[in-house]
Amino acid sequence: MIPAIHGLLIVLTPACTESDLIKDDNSTWSSPPTFENLALDSDPFVNAETKDSQLAVLHALFDPKTGYRLPGTYDKAKLEALFLDIRAGYFVKTEGIDEHIRREYHTFTHALDIVVTIHGLLREGGAVFLNEHEQSALVLAALAHDVLHCGVSNAFLINVNHPLATKWGAKSLQERRSADHTLMLLDKHKVLVAKDGMEDSLKNSIADTRTIIEEAILWTDMARHKEQMEKVAAALGKVIAVLEQVRKGGIGKGGATVEDVRTGVNVASLLDKETRILLAAFFLHCADISNPSKDWVLCERWAVIVMNEFFSQGDVERKLGHKLSMNCDRESVSVSKCQLGFGTYVIRSLLQLLEKLVYTAGSKSLENFEANHKHWEEIAKKEAESGKPYLMKLNPPSKEGGWLGELREGEDRVPNSRH
Ligand SMILES: [Zn+2]
Repeated sequence: MIPAIHGLLIVLTPACTESDLIKDDNSTWSSPPTFENLALDSDPFVNAETKDSQLAVLHALFDPKTGYRLPGTYDKAKLEALFLDIRAGYFVKTEGIDEHIRREYHTFTHALDIVVTIHGLLREGGAVFLNEHEQSALVLAALAHDVLHCGVSNAFLINVNHPLATKWGAKSLQERRSADHTLMLLDKHKVLVAKDGMEDSLKNSIADTRTIIEEAILWTDMARHKEQMEKVAAALGKVIAVLEQVRKGGIGKGGATVEDVRTGVNVASLLDKETRILLAAFFLHCADISNPSKDWVLCERWAVIVMNEFFSQGDVERKLGHKLSMNCDRESVSVSKCQLGFGTYVIRSLLQLLEKLVYTAGSKSLENFEANHKHWEEIAKKEAESGKPYLMKLNPPSKEGGWLGELREGEDRVPNSRH
């Protein structure tokens, strides 16, 4: 008999026999594709520089022969049309918002960054937990996870009674909108669409792939961070027990490694669907907030871009006479202290959990994060000593990468004002 653990996990335990295993007939496992230039340390600003460079990344990742494969039939032209339509969603202006907000972070450059980051995370261990269709779904979910994002928080849309809040409701407002838009585009381009005459196993596989895309996008809502951390932490022990058992010859302890992926360690077929969705969504969330764990140059560049978007929201809130949202007041928020707080209370524990699950990607990310954290501490110390605030060196993505704001003359550095 196969034990159900916490209602979400079916695992092979040492007491189980071969005949106890459930093989998911819809799933096969293969290692994710390898691309020399696409890895955790890739520069997203280079990858997203032009529309052509963006398409080159996507065509490489989804090459029909060597790339990620989605279930069902589709061709290169259909996929390209889908990519371009998803991309177009990152350039859509939102009435009542875009006139006032400088959307600088939630751009197509961010989306492509998360695509390549999730690919790196899969390559460096994460892939052992997901079948090949789920791996592909996750890369597609990364591409679409912030499509139509307005550049303001969900709370802002609710507080200003924006029509989007009325339409989509309070729960994961923009994530729900992105997920629904993505599913609509899949239908429109007839990718991941079941057809009459298809075998049931293929129909199931298509349905499962769509579910992963939808769920992973919904779980990118930061409001669900704590809930997700608790669920993954609860599943961790059993997941790692399966991994350690599956490794050939029982060699190797702890989280999945790049070597596990290379040697074809397949844990996916021994985990139930709910657990695979949980892990897939966790990986996307880790990728989505991976900026603090990249090389310092990228970490700092992204930090300035995201803070500038927050401050833009704060400027509007001030004009409206509303209470300013957390981290949005350029008059009082310290960029370095904000980054230190985010690192201390969110990123460090997230990466520690990731490292336990996916050792290679997690340990590299944690090492980068700790080095970056020291940089922010040094900056904060200098600020305290000099009494002068950190000057944000704004270095935005290219226009084709989604930069929507126009830099005003001389505005290559945005003062963080006093704090
Ligand atoms: Zn995002």
